Amino acid sequence: MSPPPVLKVAVNVPLSRLFDYLPPKGVDPARLQAGVRVTVPFGRQQQSAVVMEVADSSELPHSKLKRALALQDEETLLGADDLWLIRFTSEYYHHPVGEVVAAALPTLLRQARPLIPTTEQVVLTPAGRNASDAVLSRRAPKQAELLDALLRRGKATVSELDERLPQWRRSRKALLDKGWIQIDEIADVPPPPGREAAEPGPELNREQRAVLADMRSHADFRVTVLDGVTGSGKTEVYLHRMQDVLAQDKQVLILVPEIGLTPQFVRRLRRRLGIEPLLLHSSLTDNERLNAWRMARDGSAPLLLGTRSAIFTPLARPGLIVVDEEHDSSYKQQEGLRYSARDLAVARAKQLNIPVILGSATPSLETLQRCRQAAYRHQVLSQRAGNAAPPLLRLVDLARYPSNDGLSDPLLRALDKHLGENGQALIFLNRRGFAPTLICGGCGKIAECNRCDARMTVHAARNALHCHHCGARRALDASCSDCGSACRPLGQGTERIEGVLAARYGDESVTRIDSDSTRLKGTMDKALARATSGDARILVGTQMLSKGHHFPKLTLVGVVNADQGLFSTDFRGGERLAQSLTQVAGRAGRERRQGEVIIQTAFASHPFWNRLLSGGYADVADYSLAEREAAAWPPYSRLALIRASAMQRDHTHEFLNAARNKAEQLGFDQVRLLGPVSAPMERRAGRYRAQLLLQSGSRQALHGLLDALVLALESSKSGRRVRWSVDVDPVEL
Ligand code: ADP
Ligand code: ZN
Ligand code: ZN
Repeated sequence: MSPPPVLKVAVNVPLSRLFDYLPPKGVDPARLQAGVRVTVPFGRQQQSAVVMEVADSSELPHSKLKRALALQDEETLLGADDLWLIRFTSEYYHHPVGEVVAAALPTLLRQARPLIPTTEQVVLTPAGRNASDAVLSRRAPKQAELLDALLRRGKATVSELDERLPQWRRSRKALLDKGWIQIDEIADVPPPPGREAAEPGPELNREQRAVLADMRSHADFRVTVLDGVTGSGKTEVYLHRMQDVLAQDKQVLILVPEIGLTPQFVRRLRRRLGIEPLLLHSSLTDNERLNAWRMARDGSAPLLLGTRSAIFTPLARPGLIVVDEEHDSSYKQQEGLRYSARDLAVARAKQLNIPVILGSATPSLETLQRCRQAAYRHQVLSQRAGNAAPPLLRLVDLARYPSNDGLSDPLLRALDKHLGENGQALIFLNRRGFAPTLICGGCGKIAECNRCDARMTVHAARNALHCHHCGARRALDASCSDCGSACRPLGQGTERIEGVLAARYGDESVTRIDSDSTRLKGTMDKALARATSGDARILVGTQMLSKGHHFPKLTLVGVVNADQGLFSTDFRGGERLAQSLTQVAGRAGRERRQGEVIIQTAFASHPFWNRLLSGGYADVADYSLAEREAAAWPPYSRLALIRASAMQRDHTHEFLNAARNKAEQLGFDQVRLLGPVSAPMERRAGRYRAQLLLQSGSRQALHGLLDALVLALESSKSGRRVRWSVDVDPVEL
């Protein structure tokens, strides 16, 4: 007899390796395939785990192997392509495979729940139907009520009955005993989205038609970068491409930075494609998430729209992946499994041999560089679609025009003018709260967070100080704890600007949109509806307002202050600033009326402004790419960051110094080691943070080193005193 197969399973623990088990007792070996879940004994506990591989043998002798306890799935939950993506992600990001599996599965599946949830259904038997209700109603009115409730359809689920007859369970046993009802277990799943008639869109213009034709000419894997100015009709092009793919009965997966911000986009998809997109994002309930995941996996949902984690959703018939606003930093997960959903989208599309579209008005430099290398196909939409003209950009030099409470005279005059002409304005400031600083008028002491190396932000409506880094809150100090003088807020946040504008134009004219004002469910949608209809005359907001929206009446954009971005220590500072300003400027004048954009700066002579105003994002990108090349920063090199944090500063540095020594011993001389150094904000939420940067021109060398290094760190002693992580292609240094 041949020895039993060995299951190599991924367990949700922070170790890179797979664990070997013998099959559960009494299970037909044919049912054991990669992609099923099993329950295994692990340490003193039981764990749910996914079989990654069924092997003939183990490095351990069979007698040393434990037996899996149970098989959870009748069919494979994850197909070969899904398992490939999990392995690829684990290897590329040097992250434990069991944790990648956990990130890829909906919570309920991780908790060993069935793929198809079931519920009980109460069914009226023929005997029950014949029972004389007249007799019954005299002696047992409750039983009669239940029979009555079942009479029309002959059955009802327990949750339907709970709603209609809250007391029905009292009669359950009596009717079961009489044989008048029976109880069946049935699948509890919502129906898949139906199809309805699709509305036609505008006729495409020449540029759009050319891009579409090029996309249509290639059905296999290819990355198309759709680089089109804001309002150039990129979405129209995607919609046509999606229609093609859907008509071939294949599925489309669309990634967007944030779903809450895109109700307009959801409606547009539904109207234009005639299909309700299935949403995949973090605020779904566990059941909703499982349902969406299952319908993607079994193919009953053709159109999936999700945020970054949706990239792991299995697809029965994948046809196209679209990554909208591909430059957006929210595609990069910043904790736990630090992956880029955009980069995984490309890898996955390649594995599936399907096209992928990366769209943006401000493509990331990494993406532009891939275009220059001809690895990606660069398609440009240079004009706004329809009749809209590009917005006019203008700087206001705050050295010449001082601002009152943040708003300069030229900006206020422009506001008067646009509002007077029945336009709508957006005032952009990437800082929520009332003011970023509270300062003592006597000794100049600044209110700081006790747990972070950071200032507290003043929130006037709550009369409180908040730390935006760790969430700490305390009451606003009216007077200084050191010298007793009065404290005052310094600088502007959205809350303060809102107040200034409300005093000038009236409360009802001003709507603030930031994560504070939209915390309550439904408030975001309401505010966006007011913005779209034009009822909100002046919008004040953070970057939440700058992404992807189409407010037809908006004619003026005012940027209160963008200067932090000019002097960022991060080499991506200039790229980010140009992206966020171009995106917010792109909200202005998207229909008939000319848009105007006013940017306030205290550093009007900084060369960045000339590049942005005369050459636009493309010039800033060219310049930044040349700078990066000279300094050998990405995309001209590859980075990985090893981060560590601990309650004591020394522990992080000891660990990272040990990591550095180990890395040197491993002898990859194509990899530069920089650090360890303290993180830019060293203390956060009470923990000290430090990092070691690895840089290389060679992806292979960098990953070769990481492979060996991570294994060594997993078993290192100093690693036990710190929390550490590897961040491959970090976007924040
Ligand atoms: P983007 O995705 O590049 O921001 P959209 O596809 O949202 O651009 O288009 C911006 C606006 O222009 C939308 O109102 C859209 O309906 C309209 N539009 C797009 N293409 C055309 C076209 N060819 N003719 C007329 N209007 C168009
Ligand atoms: Zn003081
Ligand atoms: Zn803090």
